[in-house]
Amino acid sequence: MTTIQVNLQNVLARVTAACRVAGRDDNEVTLLAVSKTFDPDVVAAAHAAGQTAFGENYIQEAVQKITQLQHLPLEWHCIGPVQSNKTRLVAQHFDWVHTVDRLKTAQRLSEQRPAGLPALQVCIQVNVDGGASKSGVPAQDALALAQQVAALPNLRLRGVMSIPEPAPDFATACAVFARVKAVFDAMNAQGMALDTLSMGMSADLEAAIHSGSTMVRVGTAIFGRRDYQPR
Ligand SMILES: *Cc1c(COP(=O)(O)O)cnc(C)c1O
Repeated sequence: MTTIQVNLQNVLARVTAACRVAGRDDNEVTLLAVSKTFDPDVVAAAHAAGQTAFGENYIQEAVQKITQLQHLPLEWHCIGPVQSNKTRLVAQHFDWVHTVDRLKTAQRLSEQRPAGLPALQVCIQVNVDGGASKSGVPAQDALALAQQVAALPNLRLRGVMSIPEPAPDFATACAVFARVKAVFDAMNAQGMALDTLSMGMSADLEAAIHSGSTMVRVGTAIFGRRDYQPR
C-alpha cells in the first residue's frame, strides 16, 4: 500500500472510532482531504485510494490544480479566505465555499456563478474565539448573514464552518466546538434545513466529531507536513 492509502485508512478509522465514541453513525461525517500545497499527482493518488472531496486555500494554486485534474470526478471545496478580486475564479471553478463571512462576497459569488453550473454550495464561517481581525463572522451576527445568503439565487447554503484556535485538551476543544454547533442549531431552529457543520482538522477531529461535526477537513494526517509556500 502507498503512504497515502495507509494515511487515508488511518484517518477514516479515526473518524469511525470517534463516531462510535460519540454514539453517532459514521456515515454522518464526510472526510474533506485538504490538498493545499500538494501537487496534482498527489491529489490523483488520493483519488485512486478512494477520496473524492478536496479542500484548497490558495485560489490561484487551486484553479491550476482543478484544471489539470478535470478528467477526474473530484469535488472541490474552497476553505481559504476569498478576496473580492478572487470571487470570479472561485465561482467558476469550485463546487463549495466554506469561508463566506460577508454578504458582499456572497453576492459576488452568486452573480459570478456561471449559468449551467449547479448552485455553489456554501457555508458561513463563524469566529467563536478570535478577535475582530480574525476571519469569520461573530457568532451573534451569523444568523442574520445566513438568512441573507440563503436568499441569493445561485448559492445553496449548506451550513456553518469554523477554524478555532488549537485547544490544549479535548474538553476545551469540545467547549469551543459546542459554540459553533450552537450557531448551526440556531439556524436550523429558524427552519433553515442545514446539513453541514464543517469543523475539525488533523489534530482535533475527535473533539469536533464529539461536538457534532459533519465534515472534517484533514490535511497533514493524509498528505504529511506542508511547506507553507503558496505557489
Ligand atoms: C490547512 C487547513 C486544514 C487542514 O489542516 P491540518 O491540520 O493539516 O489537517 C483544515 N482547514 C483549513 C481551513 C485549513 O486551512
